[in-house]
Order: sequence, then structure tokens, then C-alpha cells
Amino acid sequence: MDDTTVYGAIEAGGTKWVCAVADPGGHLLATETIPTTTPAETLGAAVRFFRRHEPPAAIGVGTFGPVDLRRDSPAYGHITKTPKPGWAYTDVVSPLRTALDVPVGLDTDVNAAALGEWRHGAGAGLGTFAYMTVGTGIGVGAMVGGRPLHGLLHPEFGHTRVPRDPADPFPGSCPYHGDCLEGLASGAAMRRRWGRPPEELDDAAAWELEAGYLALAVVNLTYALSPERVIVGGGVAKRPGLLARVRERVAALAAGYPEAPTLDCYLVAPSLGDRSGVTGAVELARDALRHAEETA
Ligand code: ZN
Repeated sequence: MDDTTVYGAIEAGGTKWVCAVADPGGHLLATETIPTTTPAETLGAAVRFFRRHEPPAAIGVGTFGPVDLRRDSPAYGHITKTPKPGWAYTDVVSPLRTALDVPVGLDTDVNAAALGEWRHGAGAGLGTFAYMTVGTGIGVGAMVGGRPLHGLLHPEFGHTRVPRDPADPFPGSCPYHGDCLEGLASGAAMRRRWGRPPEELDDAAAWELEAGYLALAVVNLTYALSPERVIVGGGVAKRPGLLARVRERVAALAAGYPEAPTLDCYLVAPSLGDRSGVTGAVELARDALRHAEETA
């Protein structure tokens, strides 16, 4: 029997939502990018996208956060406390489920990206690995023993502390913590520190500082989580030569402990490029449908 199931996917970011429909193999049949405006407008535009295409059997959402992922919580599926205007305590699941009458799977944007890379990319065959995005913000998703890591909330590794470079006077840009990792090394932080967005930044010292902070992050992640691989995606991480320099700084910081895995294979770019998140959201939809069928 031919499987004609169509899956819907949303990579829900703070500046844009990428909506997609995919075939059973996870291949994207259509995509559309919607600007993130108000919750009602953005969710409405997403619903209209799915109504214009083959009806999906389930939808997966990988969202910016923080988001409540505890199944037994009254606030399940809600963005929680966010500085993003208008979005605090927004339910991103029920409006989709109600409008489209399908199961909706949910996880963080970075856990979705990790799931995408696990099923179709650079995480294939691994049990425990991390996906770090370095873009406007910094986030980390992880698969641990073949399952996305949740726990108390979900990993908020972007807000961990790294020692500030003694030569870096920038106080940090995180609204909560100032000079946490995201406050020092995100694209938003770089823009504030240097007065230009990272893509327009050609100062070697700026990128050396960035490589240093990211290397501290990778080393901390390595010691805390023991991942078999760290996949680094996001717009800032695309800077040519950056990942290679981070590997060198990781080797120096780790100082031989643990005995280094081959860093070229340990610290890698995503195989799916910019599609890790939306591909992972397709997989969340697949899992949501399977779960709905099993519990029906
Ligand atoms: Zn922070």
C-alpha cells in the first residue's frame, strides 16, 4: 500500500515562522515563511498555509521558548515568560489543533533541529548528541539515549555562564543575565558590541573573540552532557573558518582531557543546513500521529 500521509511542520522562530508540508519520506513538498508578528496573526497565517495544501495528518512545531513541554501541565504548549512583546503565555498548540483538527507534536526549536539531524542528518546513528544554534540567540537541543532531553523545563544552555574574556569590556546583552553565553556570543550580542551585524563584521579580533566564547561553550557542553557529537548550526556559525577555529580553541581548552575525539568529526556543521529545524518539525508530526494512533 502506498503511504500518502502528508505531515505539516512549523519552525516557529522569534522573527519568522517556516511552515512546510512533507511526504512520508520527510521530503518537503511546499514551504512558506511567515513573519512573526502578533500571535493571532502569525498562527492565523500558519493555519491558512495548511488549508491551501494537502491536509496534513498531523503537525509538528519546533518553537522558540521558553515553552511548557510538561504533558501534565495546564500550560502545556504555551510559550512562557518571554521578553518578546505580545508572546508571553501564548498557547501555540491548541489554536492549530482546533483549527485543523489534527494531532500536534511540540518541542523546542533546537530539540526539533536535533531530531531532524538525528533522523536525516549529522546525528544519524548516535544515541547522545547536542545541536547548538548560534544565530540571533544561542540555544542547545539534545538527544540523550535516543530521546529529546526535557527535564525540569528544557535545556537553556544559551544562558549558562562562560568566563568573560579579560580584554572584552562589553557588559553583555542578555536581558536577564547580561554576560551569559548568549549575552556575550549571540548574533544580537555581536551586533551590540561591534555596532554592526555579524555578516558585516570582518574584524579578525571580533571573530577570534567569538571562537573563544563558542569553544568555552562546547567544552562545557562536552563535560556536562558527554555528547558523542556537537552539531553547530545557525547564521553566525556559517562564518567561513569559524568552526575550524573553534575546534582549535576546544583542543587547547580541553588540554587533553578527555582524550580528544577527532574534532573534525566531533564538532560539525548540520548536514541539513538551514533545514534541520523544519525537518525535525516534520518528525515531531510523525511522532504525534503515531502516538495518537497508539492511544486511540
Ligand atoms: Zn542569559
